[in-house]
Amino acid sequence: MGRERPLGHRLVVATLCFCLLFTVATVSLRTWFAWHSGRANMAAELNLVDQIFQGPLAKAVWELDSDSLDAQLDSVAQAAPVGRVTLHIARPGRDDEVLLRQRAAFTGVGAAPALLKELAVSPYPGAHLVVGTLFLEGDPNLLWHRLWRELAFIITTQLVQSVALAGLIMMMFNRLVTVHVRHIARHLGELTPQTLGTPLRLERLGTRNDELDLLQNGINHLQASMGTYLARQRRAEQALAHSRDQLAEQVDARTAELKAANASLHALSRHDPLTGLANRRYFDEVKETEFRRAVRSEQPLAVLMCDVDYFKAYNDHHGHGQGDECLKLIAGVMQHLFNRTGELCARLGGEEFAVVLPSHNNAQARLAAERLRQGIVALALPHGASPVAQWVTLSIGIAQLDATMTGFDQLLQRADQALYRAKADGRDRVHS
Ligand code: GH3
Ligand code: MG
Ligand code: MG
Repeated sequence: MGRERPLGHRLVVATLCFCLLFTVATVSLRTWFAWHSGRANMAAELNLVDQIFQGPLAKAVWELDSDSLDAQLDSVAQAAPVGRVTLHIARPGRDDEVLLRQRAAFTGVGAAPALLKELAVSPYPGAHLVVGTLFLEGDPNLLWHRLWRELAFIITTQLVQSVALAGLIMMMFNRLVTVHVRHIARHLGELTPQTLGTPLRLERLGTRNDELDLLQNGINHLQASMGTYLARQRRAEQALAHSRDQLAEQVDARTAELKAANASLHALSRHDPLTGLANRRYFDEVKETEFRRAVRSEQPLAVLMCDVDYFKAYNDHHGHGQGDECLKLIAGVMQHLFNRTGELCARLGGEEFAVVLPSHNNAQARLAAERLRQGIVALALPHGASPVAQWVTLSIGIAQLDATMTGFDQLLQRADQALYRAKADGRDRVHS
């Protein structure tokens, strides 16, 4: 923003320029009138001088009273408007006698008026004798002096009037407009969304229904509309934020549900739904890893193949539902016994289970298998159709990793063979 240029100042400059032009025109006109009226006044004054001195001068000429004539002429010459007075006295048969008086500074009549009058006497009633002529010339210095005085007065009054007018206009403009415009500018400059509720109030007495009132009403109306609009927008934003939060919560909840579903799906894909043990799929994933690890680290690895004895008969005797319960209890014992890191119990199908035992040599594996077998016996689940015992029993085949093996399935096959032997030997036993 550049330097501030108040409107009032420009108005004053414009007013002063106009007044100056107007003053020049007015002064010219009034001077012209003053000049003419000055000339007319001087002519009238010369007339008056003539009227006053006509008689005495004519009488002095007629009576040849030269003293009185000189005195009269001096008086005429001293009268204010007279610059030069010339008296022509007619002398019959001779040249006219000329008497002349003039002011010291008189250089010529110039623009001043002059008056030429005959001097006449009436020595007896009805007689009219011309004894000479009186020539009165106005004093141009006086004429100019009067004009200058008049001019000075005219110029002074015009200038005073102009300055007073400009001052008055500036004061009025300042009081009526500038102060309020500044107030409006300040109000608008300080306006924020929080102060929209504070209306603009111009410090004026009463309502005037003028342009400033219109402006004030317009600004207040605009503020009110903006306030309403902002409040509506704020409410909409709050509602939007609320919906966004709700949406985020819903997304979080759905994500958590999805994660849980995924986790359970993952677990389901790895575990047997009836017993909760690892299923065949997971067992197949793990077995080769364990096999490679054991070969690499040259650690022992054992596997147990387990099969419930006479389980078909159990189902037939106790019902399939009870059979399921039986399988769950057997799985519980297995999980309880083999829960160390790396140990894995799996249901390979039907009533067949496998247990992977890393770092178990033959003796340790046999001990573990025996513990399992006894653990099942200890369950003491009645088996009403088993030829070997009154309760549910388990046959277990053990196999141990050796240097000849190239894959886990060989180990498993070996364990299966051992299981077969355990069955053949009479069941409810451990074989390797
Ligand atoms: P063996 O002592 O020689 O092992 O005789 P077995 O009767 O146990 O063997 P077999 O292979 O003849 O029978 C297995 C039975 O296991 C057949 C089937 O009814 C039963 N079975 C397989 N899966 C399930 C299951 O999920 N639930 C129940 N309740 N029974 C099952
Ligand atoms: Mg079987
Ligand atoms: Mg069986």
